[in-house]
Amino acid sequence: MSYKAEYIWIDGTLPTARLRSKTKVVETGAEPPVWGFDGSSTNQAEGRSSDCVLQPVFTCPDPLRGGADVLVLCEVLDTDLSPHASNTRAELREVAGRHAAQEPVFGIEQEYTFFRGSRPLGFPENGFPAPQGGYYCGVGADEIFGREVVEAHLDNCLKAGLALSGINAEVMPGQWEFQVGPLGPLEVADQLWVARWLLYRTAEDFGVSATLDPKPAKGDWNGAGAHTNFSTWRMRESYEAIVAACEALGEGDRPLTHVRAYGAGVEARLTGAHETAPWDEYSYGVSDRGASVRIPWQVEKDGKGYIEDRRPNANVDPYVVTRLMVDTCCTALEK
Ligand code: ADP
Ligand code: MN
Ligand code: MN
Ligand code: MN
Ligand code: MN
Repeated sequence: MSYKAEYIWIDGTLPTARLRSKTKVVETGAEPPVWGFDGSSTNQAEGRSSDCVLQPVFTCPDPLRGGADVLVLCEVLDTDLSPHASNTRAELREVAGRHAAQEPVFGIEQEYTFFRGSRPLGFPENGFPAPQGGYYCGVGADEIFGREVVEAHLDNCLKAGLALSGINAEVMPGQWEFQVGPLGPLEVADQLWVARWLLYRTAEDFGVSATLDPKPAKGDWNGAGAHTNFSTWRMRESYEAIVAACEALGEGDRPLTHVRAYGAGVEARLTGAHETAPWDEYSYGVSDRGASVRIPWQVEKDGKGYIEDRRPNANVDPYVVTRLMVDTCCTALEK
C-alpha cells in the first residue's frame, strides 16, 4: 500500500521565485522523507554540483487527488543541510522565534489575475472592456470572469485544511482576491504558498492561468497587491500599540527597506493612484486607502486590533514581508 506526496518548493527564479512540484510515492505508514531535486534546472545550483535537498516543513491533505494523498511544502537546503541561499523561510524561522512572546498574527489578502492566452480573462481580443467601476464584488456574466475557477480553488483550499477567511472579485475584470489567516508568521506564509500552488493547479484544469503580476494591465487599471494585516497581543489590547507599530514602520530607513523587499516592480504599482500611496512616501491613517498603512475604522472605534500594510505587491514573498514586519514592529514594541 502507498500514497502520493506532492513535494512543493520555491525555486531560484529572479526577480520573482516561482513554485515547483513533483510527486513521490510513499509507503503507507511512512512519513514523507527528505528528498532532492536538480537545482541546475531551477536556478538553484550549477550543473556540476546540481543536487539540492527538499526538507518537508508543512503537510496537508491533497484535495485534487484525495484519499490519503498529501501536499508537502518543503524548505530547500544545500547538501550539507544548511539553508539554501534562496530559502527565505529559514530567516523567518529565526526572527519569528525571537519575537514569539509578542504573539504576532497575520492575515494576507492575495490579489491575482486570470489570463487566457495573452489577455486578462474578460478582456476582449481587441480593445478593452468597460472601465473600472462595476467589477469589484460584482455579479453577472458582464462583470464576472472566472468564478467557477475561484469557487473550485476555495473548495480545494478548505479541503486541504488551509485557513482561508474569504474571497472577493476585484476592481479589474479577471482580478480576484483570497485572504489567508489570521495565523502566526510561519503558518500564514506556508499556507499562502500552498494556496498559491492550489490556485495555479486548479486553474490549470480550466485551461486558465493565474498570475501574481503586480501590474497585469497597463493604463487605468488597478494593480494587484498583497495587503498584509498585522497585530501583536499588545496591538490587540491597546490603541497606543497600534500607533507605535505605525510609527515604527515609518522610522529612519525602514520605509525603503520594506518597500524594496515588497515584490519586484513595486514602484510601478505604488504610484499614488489606484488606491496606493507613492512608494517613496511613508504615511498612515484611519480608513485611508491612499496611505501606506491603514488603520481600519473599527480598530480606531474599538481602540485596539490590527493594522494593514497596503504596500506589498501580489508577488511578494510572504516569508519576507512577515519577517520584516515582525522585526520592525516587535523590536519597537518590546521597548
Ligand atoms: P479589506 O477590507 O482590506 O479588503 P479583508 O477582509 O480582505 O480586508 O482582509 C482583512 C484581513 O485581516 C483578513 O485576512 C483577516 O484574517 C485579517 N485580520 C483580522 N483580524 C486580524 C488581527 N487581529 N491581526 C491580523 N490580521 C487580522
Ligand atoms: Mn531526470
Ligand atoms: Mn480585501
Ligand atoms: Mn483587494
Ligand atoms: Mn485590504
